[in-house]
Amino acid sequence: MNLNHQALGFWEIIIRTRPLSNAEISVQGYSKCVRQESCQAITWTGHPESRFTFDVVADENVSQEKLFKVAGLPMVENCMGGYNSCMFAYGQTGSGKTHTMLGDIEGGTRRHSVNCGMTPRIFEHLFSRIQKMREDGKKGVYVENLKEVEVTNARDVIQQLIQGAANRKVAATNMNHASSRSHSVFTCIIESQWESQGVTHFRFARLNLVDLAGSERQKSSGAEGEHLKEVSFNLGVGILTNNLELLLVIINLVSISNGKSLHVPYRDSKLTFLLQDSLGGNSKTIIIANISPSISCSLETLSTLKFAQRAKFIKNNAIVNEDASGDVIAMRIQIQQLKKEVSHLR
Ligand code: ADP
Ligand code: MG
Repeated sequence: MNLNHQALGFWEIIIRTRPLSNAEISVQGYSKCVRQESCQAITWTGHPESRFTFDVVADENVSQEKLFKVAGLPMVENCMGGYNSCMFAYGQTGSGKTHTMLGDIEGGTRRHSVNCGMTPRIFEHLFSRIQKMREDGKKGVYVENLKEVEVTNARDVIQQLIQGAANRKVAATNMNHASSRSHSVFTCIIESQWESQGVTHFRFARLNLVDLAGSERQKSSGAEGEHLKEVSFNLGVGILTNNLELLLVIINLVSISNGKSLHVPYRDSKLTFLLQDSLGGNSKTIIIANISPSISCSLETLSTLKFAQRAKFIKNNAIVNEDASGDVIAMRIQIQQLKKEVSHLR
């Protein structure tokens, strides 16, 4: 495998503030727990005030389309270039994670809805790039999971997403838990192949789009924790454990990026095991940390800002997954390995 391109980079951290809801306005008026300073700085207005800076701070006026241009579009280009990529939405329940990742998908593609989120927009753009590359557009992308589904256009992917979101709801209800207690992971592998001077080049990249469980402290007892261990994976959507293990991994990764040698407990949870590469390895990773501006959410918002500040210091070492020798078999083995990983999570 040719590992001739690599990019050592910090995680990209984006803060997104949702608008106050009508209910919040009716109770507390328009006062907020955060003040936007610039497109990279935000102040938490509690006591004492704390100022934070990030790669991007998006206020409530930033549309889905604008956010896609900032965060989604570069991700598609990364994947097409052979880099594994991962986007996480983090934040307390009600802060806008699902709005960001899925948004309004019932209406189909973004042509039908301005509220369409990052995932459908990413796929729409991905397919438009693939169609340009390979006219037939055949087997350009497939959803890899419990059930492998070949898709040839963005509409197929959105159908899978709608199905997945419905399964997530049903699974959550069956387990008597709100979907705020589950992570949703949508994984796909993008393969591309082209000829140049008689040599077949082959690239693949893994794309993970993750809508995390609510980051608020879980009030669950041990017994509830047991329930959460039941895993049901279906079309990219899983009910997994809570966020604690992810936080531990992130805290250790920060320490490692600061030069400490530590064991990272990837295997302690299914989520961190599945996303091992995205968390500390061969991947370009973006966190969208969603916050609520409501005074009633002030402490959770501060905790999310602090989490995001911590994650800023994590470095990944992304490499292009490319093979220029025509030896496609090595790639196939890796893809099989990835499939096995996912099926172990069932
Ligand atoms: P979460 O997934 O974090 O629990 P949701 O995405 O379900 O939160 O958002 C909670 C509510 O706030 C939903 O009604 C959603 O439509 C609304 N909302 C969230 N973010 C935005 C935004 N940026 N613009 C408009 N409405 C938003
Ligand atoms: Mg949600």
